[in-house]
Amino acid sequence: MKKLLFATNNKHKLDEIRQITIGQFEILSLNDVNFLGEIPETSSTIEGNAIQKAQFIHDKVQLNCFADDTGLEVEALNGAPGVYSARYAGEHCSYQDNNTKLLGALQNQTNRKARFRTVIALIFENQLITFEGVVEGNIECHPIGNEGFGYDPLFVPDGYEQTFAEMDPILKNTISHRGIATSKLIGFLSKLV
Ligand code: IMP
Repeated sequence: MKKLLFATNNKHKLDEIRQITIGQFEILSLNDVNFLGEIPETSSTIEGNAIQKAQFIHDKVQLNCFADDTGLEVEALNGAPGVYSARYAGEHCSYQDNNTKLLGALQNQTNRKARFRTVIALIFENQLITFEGVVEGNIECHPIGNEGFGYDPLFVPDGYEQTFAEMDPILKNTISHRGIATSKLIGFLSKLV
């Protein structure tokens, strides 16, 4: 099976991508290639971070690899937390801290529209290609559900009545920002090999 390194330390994302690509690619983790260091993520855009992470790891291990970066863009907050989604409530904050801060920022706000946006940057045979996935939805008034991670308990995708955290993970992965970006990645790779 074709091998690709996913430049992430996030086990949830690794599990999701492995589930999405099952039977098509063997997704290697940073552990599999004995990379235990930190990956810099200092860009002010989601695209910039995805590219920075992929290039950094490619420089280190010289393998075909990809990295992703995701942000939750809330309309009433002018696109925040966006590229700062991971540390919205401060450095080393928990997912719950971020969710609490987001609910506070949207208190009394009737416009609850938001979208998740993922950019995947692939470095394949020394070429850089990016793929985007977007899912539109709304922010709930309190967390619901135990599946998934991050802002999943607050996000109800358009066309559904459940949050991502209430959904069967297979359904989430089919319709999610990361699922859409990954389908584009797989479509590209399957034409090449
Ligand atoms: P990252 O920079 O791609 O790791 O994503 C930034 C932050 O966005 C993460 O720390 C999570 O809080 C959030 N996030 C990313 N993907 C998802 C998702 O699929 N569901 C919910 N939250 C997510």
